[in-house]
Amino acid sequence: MQEISVTKNPNPKARPTDAKLGFGKIFTDHMFVMNYTTGQGWHDARIVPYGPISLSPASSCLHYGQTVFEGMKAYYGVDGTIRLFRPDENFKRLNSSNQRLAIPPVDEELCVEAVKKLVEIDKDWVPRWEGTSLYIRPFIVANDDFLGVKAADEYYFIIIISPSGAYYESGLAPVRIYVENQYVRAVRGGTGAAKTGGNYAASLLAQVEAHEQGYSQVLWLDGVERKYIEEVGAMNVFFVVDGQVITPALTGSILPGITRKSSIELLQAWGIPVKERRITAQELAEASDAGKLEEAFGTGTAAVVSPIGELKWGDKVMNIGGGKIGLITQRLYDAMTGIQYGRIPDEHHWTVEVCKG
Ligand SMILES: *Cc1c(COP(=O)(O)O)cnc(C)c1O
Repeated sequence: MQEISVTKNPNPKARPTDAKLGFGKIFTDHMFVMNYTTGQGWHDARIVPYGPISLSPASSCLHYGQTVFEGMKAYYGVDGTIRLFRPDENFKRLNSSNQRLAIPPVDEELCVEAVKKLVEIDKDWVPRWEGTSLYIRPFIVANDDFLGVKAADEYYFIIIISPSGAYYESGLAPVRIYVENQYVRAVRGGTGAAKTGGNYAASLLAQVEAHEQGYSQVLWLDGVERKYIEEVGAMNVFFVVDGQVITPALTGSILPGITRKSSIELLQAWGIPVKERRITAQELAEASDAGKLEEAFGTGTAAVVSPIGELKWGDKVMNIGGGKIGLITQRLYDAMTGIQYGRIPDEHHWTVEVCKG
């Protein structure tokens, strides 16, 4: 494994208070950078002061979207230990995104080391208030000085980190979701299962229109028949119908979430089976009419578990849980955050200690 060199920032910034963080607006004093050159592989792994990077204006990430990213968090535990949650899974997924975008694979162990070292150097930036965390954004962008459409020969791999406020500032609250009938996010054989910028670019217009109608996020249907439930913005989705937990099967156009996977594993460990299968919007509407759509929730690193209180599909409005949070939703949220913040034992060995805060 290559050595990671460190250049300390000679001008560290003042740290904002935990009350004023928001999401994705503040960056720490350092970042991790590594370069790829065909023939040489990944090289020059380094931690350097946070700041602008130099890119060729012809770079294919700018023109053709040859980029991938990840999203993960470090948590300040109740025992003063800073922990990561399943970072190996993030870099495994980064490599499968790389494969789809024709980007060379990274050394997953080196990536976990890079995150640990970076977080340790900026450990004073890990916020401590209830529900806050240090958001970690690894990403890769192509950087060739060439306008032709082809997989690049040079790349940057960068990790930036950002203290973020609690997702739910006034407690876990149900969200309203718009089922998107017109636009689609991904199709089988496309890039839906990869964490890549283009998927998000394709989703922005639907998001704007949903916001205009008072909905916080879009629930995507499959790209071919627009019948089957896929996922929400940056979350996978689960339903409890007539006592059964169901979630869309990973058919190739859905992002395989680590929170989704962990939720399934927790539910199974509790003796609650989860059916991964195709689910139609029609089926949910019928369950709702019959009073059997008991719970709905999204899962993702940002919100962990997000209760859904309303689904709008065409003219149909499905109210779920009467403004309350379902039992399974709440139990999963408590368990997942309990493990992340070290409040309950990590029986699944999901967390990785970084250092004492
Ligand atoms: C990142 C992401 C998710 C959630 O994945 P986690 O690993 O649970 O954070 C779900 N859907 C999309 C489209 C995503 O980009």
